Amino acid sequence: MEAIKTEIVQHVVNVNGLQIGGGELVVMAGPCAVEDEETLLAAAGAVKEAGAQVLRGGAYKPRTSPKAFQGLGQAGLEMLAKAAKATGLAIVTEVMDTRNVDEVAAVADILQVGSRNMQNTALLKEVGKTNKPVLLKRGMSSTVEEWLLAAEYILDAGNPDVILCERGIRTFETALRNTLDLSAVSLLKELSGLPVVVDPSHGTGKRSLVAPMSRAAVAAGADGLVIEVHPNPEKASCDGPQSLTPPEFAGLMGQVRRVREAL
Ligand code: PEP
Ligand code: MN
Repeated sequence: MEAIKTEIVQHVVNVNGLQIGGGELVVMAGPCAVEDEETLLAAAGAVKEAGAQVLRGGAYKPRTSPKAFQGLGQAGLEMLAKAAKATGLAIVTEVMDTRNVDEVAAVADILQVGSRNMQNTALLKEVGKTNKPVLLKRGMSSTVEEWLLAAEYILDAGNPDVILCERGIRTFETALRNTLDLSAVSLLKELSGLPVVVDPSHGTGKRSLVAPMSRAAVAAGADGLVIEVHPNPEKASCDGPQSLTPPEFAGLMGQVRRVREAL
């Protein structure tokens, strides 16, 4: 594939003074979904203490089954705002619908466009009109080229602050939830100047593989990581099997720092 730009200039996304793509490894961590205030505050405190800079958590959840927990919506956004205030962490949370962009942008420091919406062009244009950075997750069956073209929708709408997130793709391999495409991370560094982060939680679906794939992602050149962390994964309303406990997350942070320093 040809490079989108002939000369690749690294774009640094600034989130309230935090630089993504500027050399520092940025870690976004927290539960899959915002479930209740107490659990969110516990998760936020734990990930902050371990060194994460951004709290993740979905208030609007894209679930495969309509019967599954769909997220707390506006109430969840309010809990995220409280957690941000309590910890000083920046917030990344998903927006799924053009009608909710303003509401989510009022709380989020980074707007997440999830895998299922990577080619929702109406949503891409709408987040492109905001002044909030956008975490654009790779569509689960999308090529790198389609992903970069989706990013262009946001850039062309006037928002230069796109962060690409590799979260695994569907392949013939069914042993894991997804196949984490770490070669795409190194390739994107040749094709685009946008920051690239990796989500090994959704990329593998398996707790024990999150740390090794995090280390590999950093070695491949990732600018950051997105990690699901829950104070009690057994009780999580979604994605418990891939969520780390706070001590496991603290261990991962030490490991990825050492990989980063060795590069
Ligand atoms: C998420 O990060 O909350 C999520 C739903 O992930 P994905 O869009 O990658 O499936
Ligand atoms: Mn999840």
